[in-house]
Amino acid sequence: KRTIMWFRRDLRLADNPALLAAGADGAEVVPVFVIDPTFEASGDVRLAYLHDVLTALDESIRSIAGTGLVLRHGDPTAVIPALAEELDASAVFVSRDYSPYGRERDAVVAEALDGSGRTLRGVGSPYAVPPGNVLKDDGTPYAVFTPFSKVWRRTGWERPFAMPDDLRWSGSTGVDSEPMFDRPDPGIELPAAGERAALDRWQRFVQPGGAADGTDRSRVDAYDELRDRPALTGTSQLSPDLKWGTIHPRTLLADLDASGEGSRGHTVFSSELAWRDFYSDVLFQRPESAWNNLNPKLDSIEVDTDASARAKFDLWSRGETGFGIVDAGMRQLSATGWMHNRVRMIVASFLVKDLHLPWQWGARWFMQHLVDGDLASNNHGWQWAAGTGTDAAPYFRVFNPTTQRERYDRDGSYVERWVPEPTEPMLDHKAEREEALRRLAVATGK
Ligand code: FAD
Repeated sequence: KRTIMWFRRDLRLADNPALLAAGADGAEVVPVFVIDPTFEASGDVRLAYLHDVLTALDESIRSIAGTGLVLRHGDPTAVIPALAEELDASAVFVSRDYSPYGRERDAVVAEALDGSGRTLRGVGSPYAVPPGNVLKDDGTPYAVFTPFSKVWRRTGWERPFAMPDDLRWSGSTGVDSEPMFDRPDPGIELPAAGERAALDRWQRFVQPGGAADGTDRSRVDAYDELRDRPALTGTSQLSPDLKWGTIHPRTLLADLDASGEGSRGHTVFSSELAWRDFYSDVLFQRPESAWNNLNPKLDSIEVDTDASARAKFDLWSRGETGFGIVDAGMRQLSATGWMHNRVRMIVASFLVKDLHLPWQWGARWFMQHLVDGDLASNNHGWQWAAGTGTDAAPYFRVFNPTTQRERYDRDGSYVERWVPEPTEPMLDHKAEREEALRRLAVATGK
């Protein structure tokens, strides 16, 4: 009996329920990845990182199976059914994909496989609690984070497991792998990629003495205090790993539970993982909210899209607004492919409330430049900052870039690192805040 393990956003061997299921009952597993032409829209940074993650996965498979990842180029809805036929595989195993594109793709693949008596088996997901499982008593989904997170915690997650030693990899399929796609030049240094690198990052985060305040605490124990300080390495920087599934969130949650200490840092860190699950759930329930306002009542707010709006956007994207913390964030993004969460909120608020541009412009720029670019977290992070999305972040709450800087970069070292030159603000924040509120009032008639 032969099965296909079709890897997508679960690019690891340990603790991979779909892989375990693919190899059950002694089945011979063929590991497959499809290089989908739609990836080209991802931008060079994310694509180069994917290249590195796939290379790492291929190496790990080779080291234990003697055979590598089978790569195919093309539309997966054609490639996977054809490959299943070619290999005479009885089933194709996947970790479930809940994104709008992934769901549609998988429905087509499942139907095509079914036509030839084969099955697509979804086992596991990239989330601690998969979308659709945290519901109110009346069976409807949550649109507000705090009650969601309480039920999320109560729902709980499965225990992680190691990859079984006796998994049988198919080394004699006679199927050639196509070449890997060329790694685009991202123009920046990317973080180390793959399962091993993800575990190392996690170890550094939980290791005592790692906290950026020089105490003997670990970074996770100091997380609640230091996570909002962009000048410090106060967060885990695991977002690209979680994005591609080189580590699963339940591995992190189980380690925290097992440590038994339960510091406030642990609780705050795990609620960030809950945010990730929450946004995936919101996108699952409302797929159209990827690029449209979650709250359609705000559709009528006037946004600028003319030539002068484009010119403002260019200043924002280059980090030349003259607001230190905004420019520092945008330059950090261009230089590293990552931006601190506090600063993501500040630059997003600035684009929407000070420049009056559509949040979608900023979200698209982020998706092109972030190593961790993820549709659910990014676009709902943007909607949160824009005030058009979930939760208690109403439109009229406008971030002040100057006070944010004073509060979170007190000694100025973050801004200095990225913006060494003197700056001249491109606009008057107070006046633009008034303008944002005026537009809100016009749209809502209040
Ligand atoms: P940590 O603080 O160590 O958090 C641990 C993990 O929790 C993160 O890796 C991430 O998976 C998750 N997480 C943390 N904060 C959030 C959050 N607010 N929403 C959802 N998940 C969260 N995150 C992405 O992974 N991809 C994106 O494309 C993305 N775009 C964003 C855009 C905007 C406008 C905003 C405000 C936030 C965005 N985030 C995004 C969320 C957050 O900024 C990043 O996850 C975080 O900065 C990654 O760094 P870290 O791994 O060190 O985070």
